[in-house]
Amino acid sequence: MRDPRQIIADNVARVNDQIAAAATKVGRQPSDIKLVAVSKYVDAATAGLLLNAGCQDLGESRPQELWAKAAAAELAGASWHLVGRLQRNKVRRTLPMVKLIHSVDSERLIAEIDEQAETLELQPRVLLEVNCSGESAKQGLTAEDIRRLLPVLPQYPRVRVAGLMTMAALEGGAETAHKNFAALRELRDSLNREAPPGVELSELSMGMSGDFEAAIAEGATIVRIGSMLFEGLPR
Ligand SMILES: *Cc1c(COP(=O)(O)O)cnc(C)c1O
Repeated sequence: MRDPRQIIADNVARVNDQIAAAATKVGRQPSDIKLVAVSKYVDAATAGLLLNAGCQDLGESRPQELWAKAAAAELAGASWHLVGRLQRNKVRRTLPMVKLIHSVDSERLIAEIDEQAETLELQPRVLLEVNCSGESAKQGLTAEDIRRLLPVLPQYPRVRVAGLMTMAALEGGAETAHKNFAALRELRDSLNREAPPGVELSELSMGMSGDFEAAIAEGATIVRIGSMLFEGLPR
């Protein structure tokens, strides 16, 4: 049986190569795309192999799991990204641990983040999660929701809204994914023309194992990749 350490190192190298190839193909710099390795499928020891393989930025979709892994000795030194839903009662505990929250989807949540950030003396960076696919099961804001939200952001001065995040439709394959990702880029660009002073949306967090090449072609600055990094591990 192959050594898990080697399997993960090979997978990380392969993902990085494919990110670089997808960037080069559309005339982008590979260094302009950040890989967030989503460790939600594995325990802290296995996630530690990602860190050894050079993945510094790790993502979790559940706050409790993020708390546990952020406290694990094997994962000291990782930078944490919350990519799944954040309930308001978990904001206070989560804020000190995270580099970026990808999944902010309401003004009430922004208000809570701002309030807690004040007492914690933090200035958290967040992304607004957008439902680009129109699938009703998906969480996320609509373009109209964000247009209503932008003018009130200055009321929450501790929260630094750095960009947008989305997930492509489950169905529809590469063509639909391209459309969803292009829609997020176009939304970001048009919002930046309307944004109040001090608000600039630069990041686009989009693309997972099955569709990151399409996302990079459409301008992703952050890709969130999980399952591809664990292929070949014994279960
Ligand atoms: C699980 C998850 C990912 C990673 O998905 P894979 O298809 O395993 O690469 C990315 N983003 C979010 C929000 C997730 O929940």
